[in-house]
Amino acid sequence: MPAAIALSPDVLAKYQPVIGLEVHVQLLTRTKAFCGCKNEYGGEPNTHVCPTCLGLPGALPVLNRQAVEFAVLAARAIGCEIRETSIFSRKNYFYPDSPKGYQISQFDKPIAENGYLIVPDATGADKRIGITRLHMEEDAGKSIHDGFADSATRTYIDLNRCGTPLVEIVSEPDLRSADEVFEYLTKLKEILLYTAVSDCNMEEGSLRCDANVSVMLKGAKEYGTKAEVKNVNSFRYIRSAVEYEIERQIGVIEEGGRVVQESRLWNNAEGRTYSMRSKEQAHDYRYFPEPDLPPLVVGPEWQRQILADMPELPEARRARLTTEYGLSAQDAATLTTDRALGDFFQLAASRAKSPKRVAAILLSEITMRLRVGNVELSASPITLDGLVLAADLAEANEISSKQLKQLLDTCFAEGQDFAHIYARDKPQQISDTSAIEAMIDEVIAANPAQVAQFKGGKRTVSAFFVGQVMKLSRGQANPAVLNELVIKKLDA
Ligand code: ADP
Ligand code: ZN
Ligand code: MG
Repeated sequence: MPAAIALSPDVLAKYQPVIGLEVHVQLLTRTKAFCGCKNEYGGEPNTHVCPTCLGLPGALPVLNRQAVEFAVLAARAIGCEIRETSIFSRKNYFYPDSPKGYQISQFDKPIAENGYLIVPDATGADKRIGITRLHMEEDAGKSIHDGFADSATRTYIDLNRCGTPLVEIVSEPDLRSADEVFEYLTKLKEILLYTAVSDCNMEEGSLRCDANVSVMLKGAKEYGTKAEVKNVNSFRYIRSAVEYEIERQIGVIEEGGRVVQESRLWNNAEGRTYSMRSKEQAHDYRYFPEPDLPPLVVGPEWQRQILADMPELPEARRARLTTEYGLSAQDAATLTTDRALGDFFQLAASRAKSPKRVAAILLSEITMRLRVGNVELSASPITLDGLVLAADLAEANEISSKQLKQLLDTCFAEGQDFAHIYARDKPQQISDTSAIEAMIDEVIAANPAQVAQFKGGKRTVSAFFVGQVMKLSRGQANPAVLNELVIKKLDA
C-alpha cells in the first residue's frame, strides 16, 4: 500500500531537503579494468571472462592505462584536482556477483578530489555543487533473477560485467531540490559525453545514480538522517524518486517518527520508494591497500599528455558561440547540448560566409528534418560541404528561403546531399529586373489600401509587397533585387 502522503505546502515549506549524489560511470575502454577481457555490453553470459575477472587464485590484476586516462580526463572536466599518487584498495564484502569477495576500489587516496559543477538553482542563478571525489573502481557481475525455467528457485550469475572499469563521482550534500538533482545529472552527463569517456547509456547501466536524501527544519545547523535511493535508471525517475523521498521523510517527522538510515528502492509503477536494507551501522568493508597493484602514479608529463585531449567543454563553447558568432543564448545552448552537433556547426561556421546563417539553417531546417525523420545527425544526408553551400547561397540571396526548404526536402526525401540536389534541381531564379518590376506593378495595382498605408509613413508595409511578389513568382524572384525594387516603386 502506497503511504498516504498529503502534506500541506505550509508543512513542506518548514523543511529544507538536502541531497548528495553518488554516480557510477562505466568507462568506454576496449578491455576491462584489470584484465584483457572485452569491455562490451551484453554478449552470451560468462563469455567475456578470464581467471583474473573470475577471481581465480593466483591471477593478478594489471591496470588498464586507458581507464586511468579516462578517469583523469573526466576528473579535470569536473574541476577536480588530480592526486599524483593514488592507491587502490580492497573493499571487502560478500555478494554472489563479485567472485573475488572484494571489489578493487580506491579509499582514502582517490585519484581525484575537490571538483564542482555549476547548475541553475530555482531562480535560474548559477549555483556551485561541490564534488567530493572521483575514484576508480571495478564493476561487479550481474545476478539474473528471471528468464530461466527454474528462475522461481534459482538465481543465475553472469560475470561479463565483472571488472568493467568505473569511476564513482561523489557530490557534496549541496543539492537542495529534486530539480537541482536533475540539473546536476544533466550537466554531468553532458560533460562525460563531451569528454567521450562513457556512452552514459542509462538503460544499459553505463551511468547509475544513487541519491542520498535527508530533510531538516529550515535554519537547522545539522543535517537530518539520510536515506539512500539506489539505482534509478532515468533522470526523470530520479527526480520523482527524490521528490517522493523528501515528502516521505517530512511525513515521518511530522508524525513524530524519525528517519531511519537505510537503502531504499524506487518502484516506478507505484511511484514510491521501498525500504531495501537497513544501513543503521556503518558497513565495515575492512578496506586495505590492494597488495597486487602498485600505487598509481600519474606524473605531470602523463597528465599533460592526457589533458591534451580535453575538448572545449559545453559551458565554454556556449559562451564562445554567443560572443564570437553573436548567436542567441538559446541557439548557443541548443547547438551545444550535443557535442557532435556543436562540432558540425563549428566546422561549417568556420568555412561559411555567415556563421549566423549556418546556425539558422542547422537549427530550424536541418535538425527539424532529422527529428521528423528520426535520423541521427551522423546519418544526415546533408554533409559539411552541403551545409556550407546552402548557407552561402542563402546568404547571397541566390536562393530564397522557400527554395532552400524545397531543396532540403528533396535532399531528405532522396537521401542525397545538398550539393548534388542543388546542381541537379538548381532553382530558377528571376533576377531580370523588368520581369520583377512587372510583378510589383501588378501587386501594387491590386492593393491600393496597403499602398496608402506605406505612403502614410508605415514603411514596414513594404514587406507585404515583397511577400506578395514572392508568392506570384512562386518563390523564384531574387530576394535582393525584389527588396530593392519594391521600395523604389513604392517611393516613386
Ligand atoms: P556514507 O558514509 O554513508 O557512505 P558519505 O558521507 O560517504 O556517507 O556520503 C555519501 C553521499 O551522501 C555523498 O554524496 C554525500 O554528499 C551524501 N550525504 C552525506 N550526508 C548527507 C545528508 N545528511 N543528507 C543528504 N546527503 C548526504
Ligand atoms: Zn577478464
Ligand atoms: Mg561513503
